[in-house]
Amino acid sequence: MSLLRRLFSGSSPKNARGTPQIFLTNTLTSKKELFVPLKPGKTLLYSCGPTVYGPAHIGNLRSYVFSDTLVRVLEAAGYRVQRVINITDVGHLVSDEDDGEDKMAIGAAREHTSPAAIADRYTKRFVDDLHALNIDTEEIRFPRATQYIREQIALAQTLEQKGFAYRIADGLYFDTGKFPGYGKLGNFSSADLEAGARVAVAHGKRHPTDFALWRAAKLHDLQQWDSPWGKGNPGWHLECSAMSRSLLGTEIDIHTGGEDHIQVHHNNEIAQSEAASGRRFVRYWMHNAFLTMNGEKASKSLGNVVYLSDITEKGFDPLALRYFYLQAHYRTPLSFSWAALEAAQSALDTLRRITADIGAESNRKSTHSEARERFLAAMRDDLATPQALSILWESLRSEEYHPREKWGLILDAEAHLGLALDIPNAYGVVALEDAPERVRALLREREAARAEKDYARADNLRAEIAAEGFTVEDRPGGTELSKNS
Ligand code: AMP
Ligand code: ZN
Repeated sequence: MSLLRRLFSGSSPKNARGTPQIFLTNTLTSKKELFVPLKPGKTLLYSCGPTVYGPAHIGNLRSYVFSDTLVRVLEAAGYRVQRVINITDVGHLVSDEDDGEDKMAIGAAREHTSPAAIADRYTKRFVDDLHALNIDTEEIRFPRATQYIREQIALAQTLEQKGFAYRIADGLYFDTGKFPGYGKLGNFSSADLEAGARVAVAHGKRHPTDFALWRAAKLHDLQQWDSPWGKGNPGWHLECSAMSRSLLGTEIDIHTGGEDHIQVHHNNEIAQSEAASGRRFVRYWMHNAFLTMNGEKASKSLGNVVYLSDITEKGFDPLALRYFYLQAHYRTPLSFSWAALEAAQSALDTLRRITADIGAESNRKSTHSEARERFLAAMRDDLATPQALSILWESLRSEEYHPREKWGLILDAEAHLGLALDIPNAYGVVALEDAPERVRALLREREAARAEKDYARADNLRAEIAAEGFTVEDRPGGTELSKNS
């Protein structure tokens, strides 16, 4: 995949070092800006991850297809992207408040097990969902908050030593009054910020917007750790600041998340990280708009959510969902309906048929074209996926382009959109009928094991197939077999 993504970077305007120019909307300035990374040719990217107390819904998944599209654009332009998505497996609360019911405890009670078992179950499901959406999960680091307690405590200690934090009975709080420019992300007025902080709770808070760095343990807390402030657990903004710093460094290039995180979570991350380091935390903040269900925000607490499993159980290809997302710009709200998903599935099927025809006509040979330039320019213009899709459709249907020009466009589309348009030769795929009988028999056995969800046996069979000199990969749309060179 990465080879394909790198194959064509086109001849659009280039930066001094030869990487094509990419423009991104930065929430920090509310402007579309030329992307200039900290280090030439590299991008450090952090995306806020899910709280693993249940499956991620298709609203959450929109956020990760958005960041994956960003990664594809960067990689196709020649950047090496280091990627982190955190896994929130510590008991954060149902709302942004510092009090309320703990999400991991809710999950554990619902499924009669421990928070750790719930976290394992839904982390695996989350990664599987991303994989099904054609996101290269092997290239992503998924740190868990519970594995970074030491780093979170160290960060809170630094903040306390530097005078940015104070102790109250409820724990250790960040003093937003001490951080100049608190709330700069999203240009919120102090009235908005105070309303967003939903004051109430925590006796002794100095300002409504102050937030917990460390929460003193409550009797019912299932997860608690020792700390300089007594037993307790980290405040819910702290993990992102601590893990981003540990894995990517003090200053990073891009941080993504849903737009609901701008006001409180991301302003608090900025306050913690910049107060601790005295340096800028993130160069480009990028946020996706919401997926809505019948005009309402999709959210677990509202109970109006759809999961990827609902979609596949109805017989849709997970990539029909990816296509559906890409039809809207990431900063535009998108309303989900089953009819719209059906339309996306049918468009994707047609695109795959067209791809197969063009593959045959072009003999899978590609050449440069002005259509490809326009496609790349759209993707590099703040990920304008609706425009890119319409350029793709128009050009593939047009008589003006040679099949090889169209094949080149399909390669670019595949690298940037990740829709598994079926370019078997590029993957070195072997047609099933060309595989030796022994390998075919092992494949059939493996399919049966997978159907019975006997994944241990399926893995053993994969190893046996490897011993025969072939690699099996489970890709969206089916299993792929390739011969090892
Ligand atoms: P959470 O587990 O609630 O922190 O959500 C994980 C990610 O999904 C965050 O970046 C959220 O901002 C994002 N998100 C949550 N709900 C939606 C939605 N309905 N549409 C798009 N993104 C969402
Ligand atoms: Zn975060």
